[in-house]
Amino acid sequence: MAIARVAMPIAAWQLFDYWIPDGLAIARGEVVRAHLGSQRRIGVVIAIDPRSEFGDRVQPIEAMADVPRLPDEIMALAQFVSDYYQAPPGLAYALATPPLAARRKPSSPTPVPRAPREGSASHALNDAQRRALATIGAAAPRRSPTLLFGVTGSGKTDVYLAAAREAIARGGQVLLLVPEINLTPQLEQRVEDALPGVRAVTLHSGLAAGARRENWNAAASGAAQLVLATRLGVFVPLPSLALIVVDEEHDDSFKQQDGVRYHARDLALWRARRRDVPIVLGSATPSLETWTRARAARYARADLAERADARARVPTVRFVPVRGSGARDGVSTPLWDALAARLARGEQSLVFVNRRGYAPSLKCSACGWEAECARCAARLVVHRDPDRLRCHHCAHARPLPRACPECGNVDLAPLGFGTQRLEQAIGATFPAARIVRVDRDTTRSRDAFSTVRRQVEDHDVDILIGTQMLAKGHDFPRLTLVGVLGADNALYSADFRATERLAALLMQVAGRAGRADRPGEVIVQTDFAGHGVYRALAAHDYAAFADELVAERRAAQLPPASRVALLVAEAHAREDVDRFLDTAFACAGDLRASGDGVDVFPPVPASLARRRGFERGHVLAQSVKRSALHAFLPRWREAIAVRASARVRWTLDVDPISF
Ligand SMILES: [Zn+2]
Ligand SMILES: [Zn+2]
Repeated sequence: MAIARVAMPIAAWQLFDYWIPDGLAIARGEVVRAHLGSQRRIGVVIAIDPRSEFGDRVQPIEAMADVPRLPDEIMALAQFVSDYYQAPPGLAYALATPPLAARRKPSSPTPVPRAPREGSASHALNDAQRRALATIGAAAPRRSPTLLFGVTGSGKTDVYLAAAREAIARGGQVLLLVPEINLTPQLEQRVEDALPGVRAVTLHSGLAAGARRENWNAAASGAAQLVLATRLGVFVPLPSLALIVVDEEHDDSFKQQDGVRYHARDLALWRARRRDVPIVLGSATPSLETWTRARAARYARADLAERADARARVPTVRFVPVRGSGARDGVSTPLWDALAARLARGEQSLVFVNRRGYAPSLKCSACGWEAECARCAARLVVHRDPDRLRCHHCAHARPLPRACPECGNVDLAPLGFGTQRLEQAIGATFPAARIVRVDRDTTRSRDAFSTVRRQVEDHDVDILIGTQMLAKGHDFPRLTLVGVLGADNALYSADFRATERLAALLMQVAGRAGRADRPGEVIVQTDFAGHGVYRALAAHDYAAFADELVAERRAAQLPPASRVALLVAEAHAREDVDRFLDTAFACAGDLRASGDGVDVFPPVPASLARRRGFERGHVLAQSVKRSALHAFLPRWREAIAVRASARVRWTLDVDPISF
């Protein structure tokens, strides 16, 4: 009796054997239902074998799930994810498992007919965009990815859609990966306008189960010609795949931060190579990983150096000191004046501060006590409406104390400025101004973001106040002023990627100003105007800044000059974490043959040393040679696993982006 070897969706390294009942035609890639212990689970068949080493203790497959068999490419992708990211195979294959129909309910979603539109609304490309399109075409036969390096507003999307049109015209499918769900509604409309009559579907976690399944099936059957998806979409089968586009390729949300810690951009590169199809990585601020490869000519590069709208000019950038005469409510006099001038002219402004809530902390002026989360090594954030202290790392919330719990002082002062406090201060100064705040607190509902966009487009808003949610990809043509507050905080970060992220964020935020015929201005409040990140912003020269950062990373042997993996451990007791990490560090020392080129550093606490009641720490492994690191990691993982205690949760984060 034939045996199916199945990857079950649990954090275990073994596969499970089941016998195949007569009448079930089961092959590799089939999605099946079977019992694991007392629970019925969904697994993926990895192999078929004539017999099992477990003999007749093996249980039967119960049923085949009513979904298509996974093609070889997706099976290989899941195996790659398991091998490369040191993830249990069952969890890696689970990422590729199609969304299942609700049980016993015959699913018959009514397809929404899409009327082909009359005529083509496609924009004519400008010269730079045409050259970029040609570069993508020329890179394909050389199997080289293309970096589309385009300043904000330069019309990267027009290039993607033109390349998509060509691929679809040849009968191909296009996978367009985007970082954020908030970006998709606007993009969906543009796809529809530019590619009339094309069957496009979206895939993201915000879709209802039925729609997700329907769209997945349309992609996997080849019926959908364009798939617009967030990171999980990189696992969808596409029989006629002809082009992959990764928009905003530098964006951190392509990296999954828990469970299987894969990077969707890197998996997209893997798929493009395996399928031999062109791939375009687009960004105004490419990741240093992508940047160095383009510099080394491993990637083709197409630049869009000018804004697509010929009338639009790059904004002027001004730096003003944070404190100084006349600064009030965290806003400097030049920024107050600039806001007033925009209001007088009927133009829109954006005030950017990357902190939601009222104030980042609450402090006692008498004894220095600060409100801290009991479960996290973090300060509690003051929120208004309702008045609460909230932890931004866990769900903890409690009322504002009336007096200091240490000394009884009633004069507790909120410290610093969040979006709520700025909204209040700016509203008090300009009572007639229409102000909209955009942060995670105001955009919880599904269409909150499209409402804001409509308000901005209809000119129902004078001043937008918001966090980085506002920085990404939105076109606000009447916006002529961007004020940036609190950016210096990133310069104090211990994370070596902090300045790279700040540069990307500032370039994106600044890119919101002056996109149509009105010149834009950016005012940055900083005490470090000479810092490289600000000089790059003022000169609109990300390339020079990226080169500078790459040189620094090379000197420090940090990524992209090296490859790193992080052993992350969590436990309720600090001593358990320390003991585990000490053991893992010692294991690494025993394993490493001299001269294998892998460095392992002593244990350190995580940057957030306690979260949700768990103490956290890590050990970093690094090598300038990817192959050396990846020869070491599985051996290290196995050595750690046999010594691990049940009290410690641990995981390997390969190519981590946070520490
Ligand atoms: Zn006190
Ligand atoms: Zn907390």
